[in-house]
Amino acid sequence: MKKWDLFINGEWVSLSEQIDIVNPSNGKLVGKVPKGGEKEAKQAVDAAHEAFSKWSSLTANERSEIIMKWHELIKEETEEIAKLLTAEQGKPLKEAIGEVGYANSFLSWYAEEGKRIYGESIPASASNKRLFVHRQPVGVIAAITPWNFPAAMITRKIAPALASGCTAVIKPAEQTPLTALYLAKLAEKAGIPAGVINVVTGDPKKIGETWMRDERVRKVTFTGSTEVGKLLMRQAADTVKKLSLELGGHAPFIVMNDADLNLAAEGVIASKFRNAGQTCVCANRIYVHEDVVDSFLTKFIEKVRDLSVGDGFIDGNDIGPLINQDAVTKVVEQVEDAKNKGAQVLIGGEPISGLFYEPTVIAGVTDEMICMTEETFGPVAPVSTFQTIDEVIERANDSRFGLAAYLYTQNLSNAILMSEALQYGIVGVNDALPSVAQAPFGGFKESGLGREGGHHGIEEFLETKYISIGI
Ligand code: ADP
Repeated sequence: MKKWDLFINGEWVSLSEQIDIVNPSNGKLVGKVPKGGEKEAKQAVDAAHEAFSKWSSLTANERSEIIMKWHELIKEETEEIAKLLTAEQGKPLKEAIGEVGYANSFLSWYAEEGKRIYGESIPASASNKRLFVHRQPVGVIAAITPWNFPAAMITRKIAPALASGCTAVIKPAEQTPLTALYLAKLAEKAGIPAGVINVVTGDPKKIGETWMRDERVRKVTFTGSTEVGKLLMRQAADTVKKLSLELGGHAPFIVMNDADLNLAAEGVIASKFRNAGQTCVCANRIYVHEDVVDSFLTKFIEKVRDLSVGDGFIDGNDIGPLINQDAVTKVVEQVEDAKNKGAQVLIGGEPISGLFYEPTVIAGVTDEMICMTEETFGPVAPVSTFQTIDEVIERANDSRFGLAAYLYTQNLSNAILMSEALQYGIVGVNDALPSVAQAPFGGFKESGLGREGGHHGIEEFLETKYISIGI
């Protein structure tokens, strides 16, 4: 067990008040982090503000080289970071290794993309004028991240921020701050100058409020619950900060009667049970055409039966624990509600010991059940049937969320028309894992604002300046 420090202005800062970080697989203490508050949050902004002028005046190539050094160090230490991630978050080690690779892909991609922040010249209305458009970094940015991807949610925000010339204050989730602190250690080793990245762990409300009040913080990038996202949006109004929000999802997964059912069953497994169902793009409600539901369920259940649940450090385990007891309670309540309203549990349906829950498939699900209207964030797959395309599109879109949707079909016209009709920011057609560094990730409706990834993701950290020159 190790005691960790805050990272502010290139210094490691210890505090007497600490928070215990426990492994959700076994409840054992993995580390302690300082319980930072208003004072530390302000110090972090002071440092980021101070560092901004120098960092933003480096050339894009100079910033790129430093970001790439960070990338190389993360690559070398993939195993080390993944072990820390599994210890604090619980996901199977092979998934944690995958996450570190995915996290690192944002650094290499944005190290390059930062070199392509182009301006414009615009034809003037008078011969004695010249009109130019410059893109400039917004300044200090605050990143508030969740526990389900302790590495990737940091780099998906920080890579474009740093590449564009911004400096950052970061608050990782209270359950999983160790990965973030380890990444900061590697950032320091890579030569990222003092103050460019600052990590404050501790009281979410106090740290959040301090940053939201501070007019020097020009942008907030958040991934987490819709409730906290809305709060941050209200708080951002007072100083008119730019905002990107990546909030809840409630992904429909549609299997048409012309789908490749093996592919569809594999797709649901990948989408539903990754990270024990704790991702905002996990399939949350599965709609299967009534003509193929029996054969789909046979294939699906066979694959679910093969999944092993247990400690993420034990080789061969596919599903780790849920993050805490509240998460288990929520899953138990959703399954009970579905059973009480007439659904049938085909496999699983019960909590195991500790924070583990059986991979579960429920059939005969209807739209009134809680699992069909709320995000589950657990390893439960509710399956409902449909008859027509219009019906399934209407049911899929009948949600306040609009993050990811999945569609399995072999019919090209259906693939195009249905993906156009789905009111979702991400549509995976015969693809259960669409997320990559070079493509935009984000949601419609209450799933969020703005995009992360791709050239869209760097836009979020830039201001547009129009310069009109009389000559
Ligand atoms: P979850 O319910 O999945 O834990 P949260 O939205 O509560 O999602 O957490 C996401 C991130 O938001 C975490 O880093 C958490 O500490 C932070 N957070 C929670 N409450 C606040 C708040 N009032 N202000 C700022 N950040 C907050």
